[in-house]
Amino acid sequence: MSSDPHPAARHDARLFAEVDARRDSLVRLTQDLIRIPTLNPPGRCYLEICEYLAERLAGSGFSVELIRAEGSPGDSDRWPRWNLLARREGAPGGDCVHFNSHHDVVEAGAGWTVDPFAGEVRDGRVWGRGACDMKGGLAASVIAAEAFLAACPEFRGAVEISATADEESGGYGGVAYLAERGVFSPDRVQHVIIPEPLDKDRICLGHRGVWWAEIETHGRIAHGSMPFLGDSAIRHMGAVLAEMEATLYPLLAARRTAMPVVPEGARASTLNVNSIHGGAAEPEAGYDGLPAPCVADRCRIVIDRRFLIEEDIAEVKAEVTALLERVKAGRPGFRYEIRDLFEVAPTMAPADAPVVRTTAAAIERVLGRMPAYVVSPGTYDQKHIDRIGRLSNCIAYGPGMLGLAHQPDEWVGIDDMADSAKVMALVLADLLTPA
Ligand SMILES: [Zn+2]
Repeated sequence: MSSDPHPAARHDARLFAEVDARRDSLVRLTQDLIRIPTLNPPGRCYLEICEYLAERLAGSGFSVELIRAEGSPGDSDRWPRWNLLARREGAPGGDCVHFNSHHDVVEAGAGWTVDPFAGEVRDGRVWGRGACDMKGGLAASVIAAEAFLAACPEFRGAVEISATADEESGGYGGVAYLAERGVFSPDRVQHVIIPEPLDKDRICLGHRGVWWAEIETHGRIAHGSMPFLGDSAIRHMGAVLAEMEATLYPLLAARRTAMPVVPEGARASTLNVNSIHGGAAEPEAGYDGLPAPCVADRCRIVIDRRFLIEEDIAEVKAEVTALLERVKAGRPGFRYEIRDLFEVAPTMAPADAPVVRTTAAAIERVLGRMPAYVVSPGTYDQKHIDRIGRLSNCIAYGPGMLGLAHQPDEWVGIDDMADSAKVMALVLADLLTPA
């Protein structure tokens, strides 16, 4: 046994110094990434950002591969879905630690007081679209890897960094595509960290489940002056919504999870009606005539049900079908259809998973406090790594505040990036240079 009370900490001082020495590089890298406007939709500059990172990482000794997700949703010759996969091999016989960041960003939107694609540095922050979500996290992981390689050239195993497309639109041209081709299979990758902006002292273990479905009620068209000759699909849908208010919402609100979801309100099951359409279509822009009087023969809603790890997707669906059947039993002529649109199972890394324990210990050594464990109310690319890649040893950990994501005047703190880069460098050292 070692007499050192903190054997895992033997590289800490060296790693901290290596990250500190790269502070300017960290800022410049973040600025450069923000200045490549990888807007999604439609999927701009994906090749440009992958080539930029490929050159950077090749210079740090990584072998790099550009992978186009051909045939994935949104992929075209005009807007190709490019991904970068970089790997640096160490001595044989160790694990592979993989940092996955999405390189796409959402539109800038209105309300900015700085240029969203200039990468301005002010007040200890880098500003711009994607600064926190998640080019700052991507830059921090690159600096962490470079600092680690400089401090621990004798490491065992492998370090991987990926920059992937389309997370903001479901990840099918990004992580899902790579996972389907075995990139995250447990025999080649053992630990995954996704540097999404969860704050430098929080570990995100996973996310709730999602089920989207479209419900349609049917009626019969008739003249609006004699609605009794028709059958209103809108009134039928009103009965569905009333039944949800009376029975389903109270039930869901009372259903609590042991998952540490933030914010607190998302620790219950939730249901949102994302849209409702019934009767005549919206008039075309520029039409200023009156609408025609008709009884609606169709009404549709899209529901967004977020469910808990304690719930079963089949039961979640059956609950809604049972509700529709209750309405049907009480309403003559009630007819409906329900169609699945999208579903993702909840996922949560076990608290004793190696990547969780190692990251927690690193946060304590860098920040001097214990991490908080959280779960995301919505999904991110961990869903594909867990479901397609079958890898549950995966967390989200990165700098930046989640509340700034997709907002105007998005920024990431330079100290926060440097601190989380130190955490990530320590994680690499602890997992790849066993005593
Ligand atoms: Zn993100």
